[in-house]
Amino acid sequence: METSQIIADLTSQEAEGVRRGGWFVITNSQNERIIKPLIPYLPVIASKAQGLKLGGGFAPNSRFGEYAIKVIEHYSKNNGCSCSLFPTIGLDLNPEKEYNNIAVLKTVKIEDKWIDYYLVNCNKCGQLFKVFERMGHWVFYEWKRLD
Ligand SMILES: [Zn+2]
Repeated sequence: METSQIIADLTSQEAEGVRRGGWFVITNSQNERIIKPLIPYLPVIASKAQGLKLGGGFAPNSRFGEYAIKVIEHYSKNNGCSCSLFPTIGLDLNPEKEYNNIAVLKTVKIEDKWIDYYLVNCNKCGQLFKVFERMGHWVFYEWKRLD
């Protein structure tokens, strides 16, 4: 997705656009080539996102915009490796998908059926995470940083 399209989506103030642009940013959170060009637009994106009600109930659609802002903020502050964002923005991030830029070292199951957690490390800095897979109204993830 082009930078201009991401900005148009994130500032659209509509559920579909915010969701699409936000998801693109969230799934590219480890890709500075995509995120860095968005930094100058952070103030406008943040102001358009304020107080938005986008529906979604238990897991509000507005999270896509909020998480995207956290990602762009992280790069604007040059805050170390972007994997430190996972515990904050990782709710929808499946460790098995390539967009995370991590490696799954181990998958631990419950009774050989359900996934309990993944042990993963960041391909950029080597930080380890334990990622629990949870079932609610949908499948979601809990990213925990390991020391
Ligand atoms: Zn990292």
